[in-house]
Amino acid sequence: MQRSEISFPYPALAGWRWPAVVFTGRRPGPKLAVIAGIHVNETSSIEAVIRLQRLIRPEDLSGEIRIIPVVNLPAVPHRSQYICPIDGKNINFSFPGRPDGTFSEQLAWALLDDWARDADCFIDLHGGDLCENVAHFTVAQQIGDEAFDRRNVEIAACFDAELIVRLAPSHLEKPGRSCTGRATRRQHAAFAEAGRIGIIEERNVEFHLNGVLRVAQLLGMITSAPPKSRAPVFVDEYLWIPAPHDGFYRYHVNPGQKVEQGQVLAVAENTYGDRLGDVRAPVSGYILWSLTHAFVMKDSFVMGLGKPAA
Ligand SMILES: [Zn+2]
Repeated sequence: MQRSEISFPYPALAGWRWPAVVFTGRRPGPKLAVIAGIHVNETSSIEAVIRLQRLIRPEDLSGEIRIIPVVNLPAVPHRSQYICPIDGKNINFSFPGRPDGTFSEQLAWALLDDWARDADCFIDLHGGDLCENVAHFTVAQQIGDEAFDRRNVEIAACFDAELIVRLAPSHLEKPGRSCTGRATRRQHAAFAEAGRIGIIEERNVEFHLNGVLRVAQLLGMITSAPPKSRAPVFVDEYLWIPAPHDGFYRYHVNPGQKVEQGQVLAVAENTYGDRLGDVRAPVSGYILWSLTHAFVMKDSFVMGLGKPAA
């Protein structure tokens, strides 16, 4: 096991050093790169990579596991939600990044092009910023190549997910998640979400940790991993549902729940208790995540909805 603080040769990243660790197995094998903390309040996922470091035993490992426990270091002192405070961008939607872009874009580029360029699989763990409650789900970017797409779904299914989101190849055309950035390079990745409101919870930590172990098992790096307990539902569209009013919101559904088109998902009131309007499901599907804050501004997103294939 080798701990170090790594830096990247891009101007916006000058002076920054990321705590990282590499575990080298006794036998040769694949390379697995694991990150957390693109969103620093998504602590169950960060806790999972901390525990992962205690679990890996080089004598039981074939290949190499490298880990960056917290990617968004500038956000740590501020506990920033979603964004990197240096450029105000969401690193999560900055991949594949640019070597000549802003801090977030250069960091996304450095992670994929420098740090994980030779990795057989890249895992990015998320879920449950201060304002949200997230279902147990994974995202598999599709590129339209049957063998590649099948393998990305196989990797996504290593997590014991309620839902697996298959993102259409059209997502490759604009900046996106790390799994989308990896797919533009025809490289495999897993992207997992579980957690809520910035707290460490055992069921969410286990979802992440056991998922990473099952990916390592799938790659042939370790010989055993905890079994899964459920069959996922596949959804093929990720819809962001905006708030219809500024208001004080009450939420009527939970992450993972199946909802029907037109069903009331949340109700907006003013602070006299007058009903201003409803958030309704635009299509039938499954709740991927829900905001938990009561005060919500018009047009900000209150929920993610996964729409199953027609
Ligand atoms: Zn996140």
